[in-house]
Amino acid sequence: MGQTALGHSKSRPSPQPPGLTRRPPPNFYNLSHHGSHDKIPAMTTFKNSALSNDQLHRFVFDNTPIRGNTVRLKNTYNTALQHVNYPPLLKSALGELMAAAALLAATLKLENGALILQIQGQGPLNLLVVECSASLEMRATAKWQGEITDQSFSELVGNGHFVITLDPKDGGQTYQGIVPIEGDNISEILQNYMQRSEQIETRIWLACDQQSAAGMLLQKLPDLPEHDADAWTRTGFLAETITDDELITLSAETLLTRLFHEEDVRLFDPRNINFRCSCSRKNVSNMLKMLGQAEVDSIIEERGEIEVNCDFCNAGYVFDKVDAEQLFAADIMPPVSKTKH
Ligand SMILES: [Zn+2]
Repeated sequence: MGQTALGHSKSRPSPQPPGLTRRPPPNFYNLSHHGSHDKIPAMTTFKNSALSNDQLHRFVFDNTPIRGNTVRLKNTYNTALQHVNYPPLLKSALGELMAAAALLAATLKLENGALILQIQGQGPLNLLVVECSASLEMRATAKWQGEITDQSFSELVGNGHFVITLDPKDGGQTYQGIVPIEGDNISEILQNYMQRSEQIETRIWLACDQQSAAGMLLQKLPDLPEHDADAWTRTGFLAETITDDELITLSAETLLTRLFHEEDVRLFDPRNINFRCSCSRKNVSNMLKMLGQAEVDSIIEERGEIEVNCDFCNAGYVFDKVDAEQLFAADIMPPVSKTKH
């Protein structure tokens, strides 16, 4: 792939939001109180059709420090949300957050691991969470209370927080930034965050019609020379004319041509995006170990077995008495490095 235009940006350190602290990666498993094995789908239900919809395109404006990408999610979006009957407002918000996560993950040049975006609310909406891996595999879920009808986003989240996590997924250091939510929609929240924390000028447009989600991001790289001082203002102005419908329905080529036909835009080969949930029996085992033997034993005593459901894909993991015993027996064997692998 002829991506020479972006070659030099590889030497840049990945823009890691400053003020990030080390934290354990978030856990999204749910101890289920009722066994419902018949409803549990296979762990990965992604079907290999219509991939052209689930793609991320990078582009650059030649001779300017401006780069961007576009994304459109269909199968990935629908597969990620198929296990839960979300209120329409949350369905849209999750779609927008998914599009945003893909756009950001691509600009961060993650080598491994995953980018996790969370909206933590204190209103009816408790949590929106989207995870996008370095290889653009995505999953998403939401938690809410009560009725969500036509509230504004501010009403939904109350005094909420936006949390961005870079989880290397290899036992390495996890970075997390937490900021109060500023803005009344996902793109405003993200733009405000990017402006404050990364000092990279970023504009994000997001749209979701509950069938597909789409987005476009423009960024002005701070360390590139500006031959064309007006370019950032001009491209932002042109991009501002975009409609939700155009974002969702147009191909990347058509979209960029329509918006920037007088600019020198170079579009790179697309990357595919898929749904994939990274839950596993091993991760659930680790979670149960953290719960502790006494707690696990008491649940087994009460219910005969423990069923844990993944909040993202609803996969079920069942541990009976023997499994639970093995869990803690295995824990005793490697005395030192039990978190190493
Ligand atoms: Zn899962």
